[in-house]
Amino acid sequence: MTEELNPLQLEIIDSLGVPAGWEPLPPEIMAGVETMLADELAPIDGLFTPEDPLRVTKHHLGTVHGCEKRFVAERSQKFAWSVPTVRGTVAHKAIELMINWPGEPVPADLVEAAITSIIENPRESASTFLETLPDHDMAELRGQVAQLVTNFGDCFPPIKPQWRPMVEYTAKYSLFSGAVIFTARMDLVLGLPGRRVIIDLKSGWIGAQHRDDLRYYALIETLRSRQAPRRLGTYSLERARLDHEEVTEGILQAAVRRTGQGARAMAELIAGTRDAEVRPGFHCRWCPLNQTCEEGVRHLHTLDGDEADGDDW
Ligand code: SF4
Repeated sequence: MTEELNPLQLEIIDSLGVPAGWEPLPPEIMAGVETMLADELAPIDGLFTPEDPLRVTKHHLGTVHGCEKRFVAERSQKFAWSVPTVRGTVAHKAIELMINWPGEPVPADLVEAAITSIIENPRESASTFLETLPDHDMAELRGQVAQLVTNFGDCFPPIKPQWRPMVEYTAKYSLFSGAVIFTARMDLVLGLPGRRVIIDLKSGWIGAQHRDDLRYYALIETLRSRQAPRRLGTYSLERARLDHEEVTEGILQAAVRRTGQGARAMAELIAGTRDAEVRPGFHCRWCPLNQTCEEGVRHLHTLDGDEADGDDW
């Protein structure tokens, strides 16, 4: 089978395979991680209730660690879909269909089926957005997603049913009787519990914070299943590259510290016990305040200037 794979596919098989002598993390590490998270969040115990809990997600943590002012702004605004934000959702659905598609999948057919599936599912929040998308935007979306799906099919090894693939796999964990709820929705999970590989699919570039995102997933999966996953990987559909690392005790502890710090900051900002810090950065591009926030506008001007000078980013 492997001799039919191209060099990029072989590279991914090498990166994600179980190395000789690999051993799962011992159970006492899971217990230690759980205690550490409860200790990190002890200062906010009692601030939330199961009826009105603090909800923590990868996006919340990334936002609050990026710019707190953006976190506060996003909380007060209703999320609105756009072609760039729905692109990843359609691509994930198309890849899910590809895994179970009968026969040789054609990217354009997968994209069409993915769009139909989302529109016909009333539980999908992108459903109405896609249904009412003007023809020219829909055509642009189809083209962009078909390219991502083609890249995935060309560069990622064909996923076998024996690998137990799960797309959009959700894990939940709660503390303080449900007053703090952690949710993780993983793009692609392969393997059996205790030796799972968690893969995040990115439609664009891979940045340093993507490792933090996956470490958060590893933490929630560990706490939920009482077994740590084996490996984490971020796969760029655009660049056909995989960034990966093994799950270790140190990585889980780093995830606990970042999650604890982020959740405490979220609690303080929601309670209004301090002002939000303003931290301009690349994330200003996706901020709802990026037309009015002085620091953000200035930062984006600088970024645009750098790009005009030939920077890759
Ligand atoms: S534009 Fe940038 S600096 Fe301003 S609030 Fe948004 S993310 Fe923060």
